[in-house]
Amino acid sequence: MSHAKRAAEFLLDEDRTDWHDQSLWHVRSKRDGSIAGIPEWEALRQLGSDIKDNVLGNLDAYLEQFEEKARANGVIVHWARDAAEHNAIVHGVLEKHGVDRIVKSKSMLTEECHLNEYLAGRGVKVVDTDLGERIIQLKKEPPSHIVMPAIHLKKEEIGALFHEQLGTDEGASDPQYLTEAARQHLREKFLAAKAAITGVNFAIADTGGIVVCTNEGNADMGVHLAPVQIHCMGIEKIIPRAEHLGVFTRLLGRSATGQPITIYTSHHHRPKPGGEMHVVIVDNGRTRQLGREDFRNSLKCIRCGACMNTCPIYRRSGGHSYDHTIPGPIGSILSPGIDLKKHGDLAFASTLCGSCSDVCPVKIDIHDQLYKWRQVVSEEGHLTNAKRLPLLGAGKALRHNGLYNFMGKAARVALKLAPRMAVYNRFNAWGKSRELPESPEESFKDWHARQQKDNA
Ligand code: SF4
Repeated sequence: MSHAKRAAEFLLDEDRTDWHDQSLWHVRSKRDGSIAGIPEWEALRQLGSDIKDNVLGNLDAYLEQFEEKARANGVIVHWARDAAEHNAIVHGVLEKHGVDRIVKSKSMLTEECHLNEYLAGRGVKVVDTDLGERIIQLKKEPPSHIVMPAIHLKKEEIGALFHEQLGTDEGASDPQYLTEAARQHLREKFLAAKAAITGVNFAIADTGGIVVCTNEGNADMGVHLAPVQIHCMGIEKIIPRAEHLGVFTRLLGRSATGQPITIYTSHHHRPKPGGEMHVVIVDNGRTRQLGREDFRNSLKCIRCGACMNTCPIYRRSGGHSYDHTIPGPIGSILSPGIDLKKHGDLAFASTLCGSCSDVCPVKIDIHDQLYKWRQVVSEEGHLTNAKRLPLLGAGKALRHNGLYNFMGKAARVALKLAPRMAVYNRFNAWGKSRELPESPEESFKDWHARQQKDNA
């Protein structure tokens, strides 16, 4: 199903659409308020972007440096070419230790690799411990946002879910009550887990350490309690030196939720006494993206979610409409690189207003890349007829002055005289939810010529 069709389904619930739109705009406003207190914000963005440029240009060297330092710290480093290798490595570690239940803190990479399903199929029970992630795990849904995975759900829906699954009071929807219930429920899981998996926000090449940012402390609790810790990271998570970390932590918290910094910024350098620490470094298509000159900048992303919170399409279509692990504007430039046929339509899920590029803390040219993906989709023959045929017609008309003038006149007459059903039908996607503008008496060209004549 296309993004447009899934978005249309989301829009059927007008209340939810309005509320989703307003909630995300509230987060965007908090971000604006927070950066207003940082006069050097633009310089900070530029610095973040420049550091990431350097990383992308020297990725192989930084990754090898990271591996060497991490190994010297006693960390076991694994390399995975793709999702299948990543999942097999994680399962291998768990199998070696006889682990059949783990706690996991939020990691978009493990979502991308479908790790939960893979492990469940091999008898390993995975409990997501981030509150939002746990909610959607209980609901058997994928996340709809990379920072706020359950943002599409209302507190009443979560109350009903917790009543059914965790035995909370029927009809209770007080967020504090529900959070406390989740806390009690998760505490048992933390205490019973023999291994903990986390994502990685930053991996520091010159120390071999990794940094995990959360607001709930769940990653720390999992890692501190379980003897085996596994951290899964994409190859692009590298930063060169520890001194660069401050640039990104200042950018990340403010861009994500308007906080000056995430509540927990935890550094992991070596295994606990008697424990084991693994880092799995995953490619899964990233090297291919790095090789695409027009799109390599997308690998600078620090997963703050700001481009989603500001995007007028995302706010009104919901994260599930993108049918990809990473939704919103950044997802729409990453996913066509993975499967152009399946995700090519996401390049069109944008007004190209540029708001995403304006808020991106590492200055990714998101809307330019969306525009470029449209050209790739067209050149490689993946346009649907509904887009291809009108564009073919428009291209011909715009190339021939006489034809353009004739079609303009014909359209003005047709819009006035044609019966409504001839204009508002299934071929008119624009008119599905809005009225076409009233047809003017004359074209702009005619009006301009008349003005010039009058002035003369
Ligand atoms: S593309 Fe930029 S704004 Fe969007 S999630 Fe990534 S870093 Fe944040």
